Amino acid sequence: MCGDLRSADVGSTVTVCGWVDSRREHSQHLAFIDLRDRSGVVQVIVDGNHDLRSEYVAKVTGTVAERIEGTANANLATGDIEIRDCEVEILSEAEPPPFPMDERTDVDETIRLRHRYVDLRKSRMQKNLRTRAKVNSAIRTAMEEQGFVEIETPMLIASTPEGARDFVVPSRQKPGNFYALPQSPQIFKQLCMVGGIDRYYQIARCMRDEDLRADRQFEFMQLDAEASFVTQEDVFEFISHAIRGATEAVTGERPGDIPRITWDDAMERYGSDKPDTRFGMELENLTEVFASTEFNAFKAERVMGIRVPGGAEFSRSKLDDLTDMVKRWGGKGLVWMKVEDDLTLNSPVAKFCSDDELAGIKEKLGAEAGDVLFLVADRKRRTQHLLGLLRVELGRPPVTEGGLNYLWVVDFPLFEDISDDGKPVPAHHPFTMPHADDIELLESAEGEELLDVRSQAYDLVLNGWELGSGSVRIHRSDVQSRIFEILGIGEEEAQLKFGFLLDAFKYGAPPHAGFAFGIDRVAAILAGEENIREVIAFPKTQSGADPLTKAPTAIDDTQLEELGLRVLPQAE
Ligand code: ASP
Repeated sequence: MCGDLRSADVGSTVTVCGWVDSRREHSQHLAFIDLRDRSGVVQVIVDGNHDLRSEYVAKVTGTVAERIEGTANANLATGDIEIRDCEVEILSEAEPPPFPMDERTDVDETIRLRHRYVDLRKSRMQKNLRTRAKVNSAIRTAMEEQGFVEIETPMLIASTPEGARDFVVPSRQKPGNFYALPQSPQIFKQLCMVGGIDRYYQIARCMRDEDLRADRQFEFMQLDAEASFVTQEDVFEFISHAIRGATEAVTGERPGDIPRITWDDAMERYGSDKPDTRFGMELENLTEVFASTEFNAFKAERVMGIRVPGGAEFSRSKLDDLTDMVKRWGGKGLVWMKVEDDLTLNSPVAKFCSDDELAGIKEKLGAEAGDVLFLVADRKRRTQHLLGLLRVELGRPPVTEGGLNYLWVVDFPLFEDISDDGKPVPAHHPFTMPHADDIELLESAEGEELLDVRSQAYDLVLNGWELGSGSVRIHRSDVQSRIFEILGIGEEEAQLKFGFLLDAFKYGAPPHAGFAFGIDRVAAILAGEENIREVIAFPKTQSGADPLTKAPTAIDDTQLEELGLRVLPQAE
């Protein structure tokens, strides 16, 4: 390979193939070519008459020679040698590349994706896709070491309930009927457990029609796993083994035990169910300090604060921007207090607070000169949420800094919210087993009280990104029917959507539990990328389009006819 040649190869005749990375004229008769393949580049000296332009594909046979003294390039692995006396065969000519091929120029992402085949030649993508492959391979090894068997579940299915919108595929043979593409293999892996597979895994493609973000694509890959006769502890064990193996495969270092935090603690300390524990700035509860306050803005279910060291230097406009941000996130406002050298609190609202209250804030937050303190007062959950977002906004280190902080978040609530029509919304999915200690509460709770019911669901978090979720499942059809009832899924609807699962449970279902984590996200963080598109060979843009194939595109009338479909005119 081009990038493998070294001084030890001097004197040998070699043949290398690759793309012309760059060309410099040496003299009238000779030209320097940097030839690139997946391993790197090598300098090749060719007859100046060869028409070898940027990105031409060539095969070169010549002799490896030491570079002339003073011309070695210490920044290049092959910098001590070059290939001389070359025979050149042009395998393919090439148009000038659509963007500069050096690694320094920032190229617009749409242009990169439009010509992804050229973009993939760059070392960043070469490295990232290989990192991803290592992750996949290590996961397979780890799961197989633990006795898991790889099973492929179908892509054309009836809807799965992961809470997102389905992508659907029209049926030609049954016009007017649709398959859904799987949001996950959830139901099939549970059916595998009823089928005695015992330990299932799959590196599964999942499809969810949700708005795209830096950490989200329509389709994504996840390690999906399920096991029978196991507890939550066993699942942590299996998944930790896989994630530690994947990390070691990329970084060379095996992470230690993965710490745990309860969902409730995570919300209290970090205001998030996916806390980034690479930095402090934890939330403090100040509700007691304001128990008998005269200041209306602080008469709230919850008052909480965070301390930002050095923040006293923030300009007025930065503080205004942060306040606007909190309002956009759904807050009523944001109170800031700068800590002066004599530890007095400089704030537009200081005059509304009693001396005891000001002292209480300083003490609880451990205020030091030069800090800025941010306070939010609202309903409990919203206060946590807003300060959690603010904490990340102000403190989150870049992806390549602060190490890899894996974290299990345990004891998730069973329901995340009560919808406008009074039905509880499942926090995970409707097959999640309630926490053993909260079964009675589940039966007696009404309205908002339901939000206190915990579940046997857990998440794996890395540096503030949710990698994945799992749970102990309900394996009895009576309990499952009862949960459907609480969720407001009527018997008829339950039969229609999940009847086959309820039926399966009647034929001997083992207790089972499982998990799934997103491979794109793990690969991105391990590759040091902030955006999962950088570890996906052919991703969609933020707006869900593929600039290369132009998908999504219209289909022709014959195809529509065959499917029994008619497209309505689009509303302006
Ligand atoms: N099916 C779930 C998901 O894709 C994971 C699980 O519960 O195993 O999020």
